[in-house]
Amino acid sequence: MSYARNKRAKERRRNRIDIIDIEKLQKQRNENLQKERLENEEKIKTLTKVEEEMGITLVHGAMTYECEECGKTWKMWLEVGVEGKNKIMPCPFIIRCKCGGMAKHINWQNDIDLPEPRPLGENMSYFKLDRKGLKKKDSNACGIPILK
Ligand SMILES: [Zn+2]
Repeated sequence: MSYARNKRAKERRRNRIDIIDIEKLQKQRNENLQKERLENEEKIKTLTKVEEEMGITLVHGAMTYECEECGKTWKMWLEVGVEGKNKIMPCPFIIRCKCGGMAKHINWQNDIDLPEPRPLGENMSYFKLDRKGLKKKDSNACGIPILK
């Protein structure tokens, strides 16, 4: 009797500990996520500052778009923060081509992912980070297509 009661008490204690452990783990996980988010924001802030000071745009990858109207295909480079590893906003799946037609992201499997960000070349089209949206903490902020 007392052995059984003891056993039950032990089990209850163990269950309590398990719950505390899970809560602790969840708390730690949330803290890590928060830290990661802040670090990412810090990284983006530093990068955008570097860009503004040096007058360059850093890109980390590219996607191919194809116009349904004129059939043209071209690469849309991605400014750091638009999609990718340090994504803070997405880019649109459909954009307007220079001809006025609609262009779609194609050949997803051939998206380019650079090992290190590099400066955007003069004639490269790209998605620009929506800095205004970022400042306003607009959750609908989206990369702005700049066509060259
Ligand atoms: Zn077109």
